[in-house]
Amino acid sequence: MRLSQFHLHTTKETPSDAELTSHRLMLRAGMIRKLASGLYIWSPLGLRVLRKVERIVREEMDRAGAVEMQIPTLQPRELWDATGRWEKFGNQLLKIKDRKEQEFCYSPTAEEAITEFARQELSSYKQLPVNFYQVQTKFRDEIRPRFGVMRAREFLMKDAYSFHLHDEDLVREYENMKAAYTRIFTRLGLEFRMVQADSGAIGGDASQEFHVIADSGEDALVFSTGSDYAANMEAAVAAEPSARPLPAETLRKVETPTQKTCEAVAGLLGIELQRTVKSIALMTDAGFALALVRGDHDVNEIKLAKAPGLAGNRFASEAEIVEHLGSVPGFLGPVGPAKAIRVVADPEVAAMADFVVGANEAGFHLAGVNWGRDLPEAEVADIRNVREGERARDGGELKIARGIEVGHVFQLGRSYAQALNATVLDENGKAATLSMGCYGIGISRIVAAAIEQNHDDAGIIWPDAMAPWQVVVCVINPKGDTGVSAAASELLEALRAGGLDAALDDRGLRPGAMFADMELIGIPHRVVVSERGLAAGTFEYRSRSASEAESLDRDSLMRKLL
Ligand code: ATP
Ligand code: MG
Ligand code: MG
Ligand code: MG
Repeated sequence: MRLSQFHLHTTKETPSDAELTSHRLMLRAGMIRKLASGLYIWSPLGLRVLRKVERIVREEMDRAGAVEMQIPTLQPRELWDATGRWEKFGNQLLKIKDRKEQEFCYSPTAEEAITEFARQELSSYKQLPVNFYQVQTKFRDEIRPRFGVMRAREFLMKDAYSFHLHDEDLVREYENMKAAYTRIFTRLGLEFRMVQADSGAIGGDASQEFHVIADSGEDALVFSTGSDYAANMEAAVAAEPSARPLPAETLRKVETPTQKTCEAVAGLLGIELQRTVKSIALMTDAGFALALVRGDHDVNEIKLAKAPGLAGNRFASEAEIVEHLGSVPGFLGPVGPAKAIRVVADPEVAAMADFVVGANEAGFHLAGVNWGRDLPEAEVADIRNVREGERARDGGELKIARGIEVGHVFQLGRSYAQALNATVLDENGKAATLSMGCYGIGISRIVAAAIEQNHDDAGIIWPDAMAPWQVVVCVINPKGDTGVSAAASELLEALRAGGLDAALDDRGLRPGAMFADMELIGIPHRVVVSERGLAAGTFEYRSRSASEAESLDRDSLMRKLL
């Protein structure tokens, strides 16, 4: 590739609406351009990186035995009605009508469509197990599209769906996919962690996420040094408290609270829910919890006794509790009859509803559930507080890191196949509902996540596997007829023959501008061909992550690069 024939367009300015480093750098490097909110054009440069990620994902999916196919992005309403997700998916689902007034959605994920395919295609257990995958554009009408392609509305996802007769087969394929994902993120050269996850709107039983570790990540992850325990805070909250560390420092907005949430939290706390309960439970490591009731109930119905670890009765009376709550930042005031405790730590959250407060020995921490809206999915907020260095239940130390979710695997079970009536004949000739797994990777998000993890003041630092080119040969003064162009072309061919993805910067820029571009767009290896170097029989080599360049003769250079 000769860059004089390519389209590179870098800029020095930092766009004002780009808050996140990766977003700024992708714009400055000219990898993406905004078309509308959450919609991005991938430039030729950006696309080279996207395709590299895609290729590795494909290779490892193929190696793992999955088979590629393609599903339309537009899908008929009837299919989504059959699983209830036309409504349940909420406003993220983009709905479209055609000229005949028939309704479609733009696929945010494809469980329905693939299950329909399985229903038509699979008739016997002998065709199982099978794992279908696609690399296809998805659309989610995100409430707050932001950070460029990190949280876009239209984005590229690899989604895979496996079908099985027996649960053991599903578990085996789930493990196979986890291994494939581990190979993918290892090959991409990223620092990542697999964590227990909440399965969210997709549903199902077991679920794990893959996160690229980066301080700017939206998710808080909690690990223990005492075991393999690693979880997304979201999932840690939903889990049984005695077996899990307490979750997160961040106050997260709960979008979808219902009675089911209430029950789930009460279950966690081992407290009994009043039928009319509207507000919720306190919990703590140190041993107190209470459920608040409102409506017909008096606040005296606060249930202290049933909470785990309450024996010590740290708080003997309501007054004592209220007094203690006074030290919670943002706590609004005392609890009166028929009132909920309100904790205001974030105005957006405060507007939403009734909250839960928790405390532990280290001080007060917040946990919350919100009842404000009548939304379909139950969810528990991860607003409890865990501090780095606290003792984990397994005796280890708690570590907290931030992560960017780049992959998610789920054991879905039979719900989709049941809803869409996808069955096969089993070994005894009897119809059996298919069991299903699903496995997503955010291909376009990986590009941004890699930059979040790998950059410096000069720009992006690509891991070799993702770089638009692994090496760029920079020609100083290509138009001067001094043999530099010929020498550089010859070197380019030799590097390519050696299997490297190499480009030639023959744009004729001044060295400073040329080097700045190559650093900004993150090329891992740079070789400079100059008249002076040629005279001395050397090339100047610099690794993107090294601070100094070195002069190497041709043999040493080739040994270094190949
Ligand atoms: P998030 O929690 O970030 O909203 P999700 O859990 O809703 O993601 P999944 O349904 O698990 O996403 O989809 C599989 C993968 O698709 C995610 O792990 C993520 O990498 C990617 N992805 C999801 N939403 C977006 C988006 N808006 N923009 C880019 N990639 C996305
Ligand atoms: Mg989402
Ligand atoms: Mg998620
Ligand atoms: Mg997810």
